[in-house]
Amino acid sequence: MLAKEMETYITGGSAVRAMFEEGARLAAKYGRENVYDFSLGNPNIPAPGAVNDAIRAVLDEEESTFVHGYMTNAGYPDVRRAVAEDLNRRFGTDYSEANILMTVGAAGGLNTILRVLLDPEDEVIVFAPYFSEYNFYVRGARGVIRPIPADPETFRPDPEALRKAITPRTKVLLLNNPNNPTGVVYAAETLRAIAAVLTEKSAEIGHPIYILSDEPYRELVYDAVSVPWIPALYPDTVVGYSWSKSLSLPGERIGYLCIPASCADFPVMFDAAVAVSRTLGFVNAPSLIQRAVMRSLGARTDIEAYDRNRQALYKGLTDLGFRCAPPQGAFYLWVQAPDGDDVTFAQRGMEHRILMVRGSGFGCAGYVRLAYCVSHDMILRSLPAFEKLAKEYNLK
Ligand code: PLP
Repeated sequence: MLAKEMETYITGGSAVRAMFEEGARLAAKYGRENVYDFSLGNPNIPAPGAVNDAIRAVLDEEESTFVHGYMTNAGYPDVRRAVAEDLNRRFGTDYSEANILMTVGAAGGLNTILRVLLDPEDEVIVFAPYFSEYNFYVRGARGVIRPIPADPETFRPDPEALRKAITPRTKVLLLNNPNNPTGVVYAAETLRAIAAVLTEKSAEIGHPIYILSDEPYRELVYDAVSVPWIPALYPDTVVGYSWSKSLSLPGERIGYLCIPASCADFPVMFDAAVAVSRTLGFVNAPSLIQRAVMRSLGARTDIEAYDRNRQALYKGLTDLGFRCAPPQGAFYLWVQAPDGDDVTFAQRGMEHRILMVRGSGFGCAGYVRLAYCVSHDMILRSLPAFEKLAKEYNLK
């Protein structure tokens, strides 16, 4: 007999994955070119050539038993040092390998640090809409997720709503910037106001409330928007990063946690994270790709291609009368269901072979998410189908 908890894992299975499977079914029936699948955040841009070159160079130049062997659980010291120096160059920080723990993607890092920080029933605040997997990460760490409803005008966090949501059990504010699913980027001004609330409330409740900043889309920003480095604004911040999106390497499972020395409980927190990543069974981040990302820290994905998609989709949909949050980062467009019913909207989209993920899956009904990490051609081909959908809703 399975653990009782498995029931919620299975019934609460990922809406995104379900759409992905539906897409495969429709493609088999109508042909792939006649299905407009905006469901999955799987980068369509190949990893930069520099990454593949780096993998080859690692295999050619480094000792096989070293490259494929165990290393210290936190990751190769030279890799961690290179990551720290890269952050120092970009954000004026003074990190060393003692602050960087290599992880199995962002998911591995977030699961690890939540285990480190949460006692059973401790609360993790998130701003809706939020990445649905957070429900499972928090539950897995025996915590309780406390979503704050979205501000439907801006989809930016509201510091005053945060103040009201904090209780003596609040341990973590889990932020995601740039944001999946809205594409919104939180500005320094908003984050400063959040930091002020957290500083005040941490003093009041008698323990630090940590920010856990989930940043797999950090480099995917448009129009010269900048993504603030949150540890510079709030000392009790842990940053989770991965190269899944920024270098199109989601299957390689590689990322890191940055735990600054300014965090309360540093360095014990770092040692605890290393111990937890062992007990979760990760043991260490995948070895070969650790060595390869060290050699490709300066590589960047083809952001212009995402930007072209972003502009075409945003313009195409707003011209048809759909309302969308202005997308500044990541590769998602957040679209309002014209009559406020996202479930029906997603279903009606499917009748035109448009696959969109309903917002209720992200804790925010009334909207759908479109992932535009797809071919530009598919976006152009999808617009007549969106036009039919717009007509059904009498838009324009
Ligand atoms: N956080 C957010 C906001 C994401 O969108 C994703 C993946 O889509 C993850 C974390 C997980 O990233 P990774 O594949 O690196 O574990």
